[in-house]
Amino acid sequence: MPEDLPFNTLRPWLLETFGRPVHRVALDAGSTCPNRDGAKGFGGCVYCDVEGSGTGALRTGAALAAQLEAGIARVSRRDTGAGVIAYFQSYSNTYVEQERLREVLAVVQPHLGDPVVCVSVATRPDTLPDWALSELSRLAERVPVWVELGLEAASDRVLEEIRRFHTVADFEDAVERAHAAGLGVVGHAILGLPGDGRDGARRTADALARSGVTGVKVHNLMVLRRTQLEKAWNAGELEVLDVDTYVEWLADFVERLAPDQVLHRLTGDAPAAERLAPNWQVHKNEVRERLAAELGSRGTRQGGRTATTHASGR
Ligand code: SF4
Repeated sequence: MPEDLPFNTLRPWLLETFGRPVHRVALDAGSTCPNRDGAKGFGGCVYCDVEGSGTGALRTGAALAAQLEAGIARVSRRDTGAGVIAYFQSYSNTYVEQERLREVLAVVQPHLGDPVVCVSVATRPDTLPDWALSELSRLAERVPVWVELGLEAASDRVLEEIRRFHTVADFEDAVERAHAAGLGVVGHAILGLPGDGRDGARRTADALARSGVTGVKVHNLMVLRRTQLEKAWNAGELEVLDVDTYVEWLADFVERLAPDQVLHRLTGDAPAAERLAPNWQVHKNEVRERLAAELGSRGTRQGGRTATTHASGR
C-alpha cells in the first residue's frame, strides 16, 4: 500500500490514478436539503449545523463559475500543474430540478480534463433520482464522477435516532444505481453516534465493504453549536469519544473495510469556536500515525477482517 501505511489514503492514490497531484476545490451551489425544508423533516440531522446544509439560495451559473475559477487559481499558485477535483460540497446537490443540475454541471465543462480531472457531487441516498444519475453519467464520459453519499451508521434504529430520515437500504440502493451508471461512490460514516457503540462502528464498516464503494470518509462525532445535539450535550445526556477510544474504534473500522477501498478522510475538523465537543482535535497526520501504530500493534491492516467479498464499483 502507498506510503507504507497499513491502509489506503487518498493523496498517493490520486497521484497514482491521475499521474499528478490533485487537490479538491469545494463549491457551494447553494443547495438545500429535504431534511431541513420539511420534505423529510425540519431541523436537519441532529449533528448538522445550519451552514452544513448550504444556503438554499441557489448560486447563479456565473457565481459558481467564479468560485471554481478562484479555486483553480488557488490550486495552481500552490502547486503548479496540479489537477483539480471540482467538489460540490453543500450537501444535497441532486435535490434540485433537472435543469438546475444541468446548469451546475455546465460550470465545470470548460475545465474538464485540465485542470479538472474529476467531479465529486455530495448528496443524500434518497435524493438521487435516475435522471440525476443520467446527467452525471454523461459527464462521466469525460472525467471520473463520484457521488458522495452519507450512510453514517448501518442501523435504521440509529439513523432514526439521529433524524437522518433515510434507511440503510436507501443507501445500498443508491450505491448500486450509481455504480450501474458508471459512477464512483464515496460513502460517509460517523463513529460514536448515540446508541451505535463499538459494534456499530464495525457494522458500518462491514456495510461499506459490502456496498463496494470506492472511497470512504469517516470521522468521530462532534457536537457543534446550533445543532440539535447542543441541547443534549448541555444537559449532560451525551458522550463523545476520547481520542484513544476513537483510534481503537477506527482501527476496528478500517480492518473491516475492503483492502482496495480508499480512505478520503480519517477524522473530523471543525473550528474551535463552533465545536462544543470533543475537547480534543488532533491533526489528521497524528490520527493517521496513531491508527497505523494501533493496527501495527494488532498485527493487522485494512481488509484484515473484511467480512464479505467486495463488489468493486468504479
Ligand atoms: S442530510 Fe446533510 S445537509 Fe441535510 S441535515 Fe443531514 S447532514 Fe445536514
